[in-house]
Amino acid sequence: MLLKHMHPDQLREAADRGDPLLVPAGCLETHGPHMAIGHDTIIVEEICDRIAEHLRVVIAPPFDYGNTGYALGGPRDGTVDPDYNSFGLFVKSILRNFIEMGFQRIFVPIVHQGMDGPLALTFKRAAVELSFEMVLDDGHPRGWWGDEVLSKSAPRFGGIKVLPMVLPAASPPAGGDHAGYNETSFLLATRPELVDQSKLDDNAPWYCRQDPEKNSWTASAEHGRIMVDAVVKAWVEMLG
Ligand SMILES: [Zn+2]
Repeated sequence: MLLKHMHPDQLREAADRGDPLLVPAGCLETHGPHMAIGHDTIIVEEICDRIAEHLRVVIAPPFDYGNTGYALGGPRDGTVDPDYNSFGLFVKSILRNFIEMGFQRIFVPIVHQGMDGPLALTFKRAAVELSFEMVLDDGHPRGWWGDEVLSKSAPRFGGIKVLPMVLPAASPPAGGDHAGYNETSFLLATRPELVDQSKLDDNAPWYCRQDPEKNSWTASAEHGRIMVDAVVKAWVEMLG
């Protein structure tokens, strides 16, 4: 169920039951002439929707404006890069509220720039800082480290997991790239109306043509469906 659709009593029930909260995170970044600039958020949202077909989960509104470092273009190409510190503070404050809502298992699936990119590191840093700070917020004295406090604070300490959308169990067949064979196929399988391969021509950027056989031109909904199924299965097995 979508968090923003819930009534307060439904929110309480879900949190008390221990339902996982999925927090899609991505960015606006140019993805070649043929793909929606929001791909890296859209595909995570599509995967979350499909996980919800198998398991009881709550899906938070997405973080659409993650950092890009302008690695592949600027605003005129569709790429947005917020101030790092401001975005970090925003992320941390919302994650704190998710914990305060009572969610004990919070997952942030990320596809953009991998797990060592600024987007993933922003969420990881916020998660780690909250783990430690909220133990003190709970009134535990300095020198609190130990099994007793950690077990009591378990829902808060380490309760936020920042993970690759493509979990290791799903790869292969699923893989990553930038707007190439894999990402174009992911979008063709989930939101085909947001892809137009006829816009690919000789001017298409390097990342569209990284492999002579597997590239933006040869991407297909069929390959996308195989990857989506593997990714969803890995998440359902991990959460279930
Ligand atoms: Zn991408």
